[in-house]
Amino acid sequence: MKTIGLLGGMSWESSVGYYRAINEGIKQSLGGLHSAKIAMYSVDFDPIEKLQHEGDWEGTAKILSDAAIKVQSAGADFLLICTNTMHKVAPQIEESIDIPLLHIADATADVLVKKGIKTVGLLGTAFTMEQDFYKGRLSDIYGLTVLTPNAADRKIVHDVIYKELCLGNLLPDSKAEYLRIIESLAKQGAEAVILGCTEIGMLVDQTDTEIDLLDTTYIHAQKAVETAI
Ligand code: GLU
Repeated sequence: MKTIGLLGGMSWESSVGYYRAINEGIKQSLGGLHSAKIAMYSVDFDPIEKLQHEGDWEGTAKILSDAAIKVQSAGADFLLICTNTMHKVAPQIEESIDIPLLHIADATADVLVKKGIKTVGLLGTAFTMEQDFYKGRLSDIYGLTVLTPNAADRKIVHDVIYKELCLGNLLPDSKAEYLRIIESLAKQGAEAVILGCTEIGMLVDQTDTEIDLLDTTYIHAQKAVETAI
């Protein structure tokens, strides 16, 4: 079994989900007392969130590249960045290490392509929904059409992530808003909706709606399990 490298803490609430899903996946595949070999570096999210909102992405790249080097030194065979948003600086992180990076958008696109889905909705932080590092990868490499909510709804999705989900607060009103937004993406033609932020699966899951939801935390964790064994 290979050692899985995790860059976590963004937020730690979602890193818990990675740790659980990866270990459950290994247990399911190998049985008995098998558990995942993991080398994890969990950052302090507060300074990273400040740099993000100041637009200092090079500052975040520096912190995460240093952390990635430590994960590699700890024996990881490959690396996962446990957040969609911070894949904005995936190229800089990749450049600083010798082990491969398992990109969260590629893992998600693989599932979409296997399902034959061509038009997909995307929920995530404003960075993920509005910039090209994620949407562009889905459309340019995989030919997917990516729909995002309107500006007012993008703000709701973004604010709930940073002000509630990253702090572990799961509020019924926010859940209702998310389900409304998911439904409106489906009405616009989305055949499925990507939960493109690693905390969203804590708030809504497949039992809440008939619309196909792709939880990126789970998908990324599954890809890590497959790669490790
Ligand atoms: N975990 C989130 C994501 O998947 C948001 C927190 C962050 O900015 O990294 O995008």
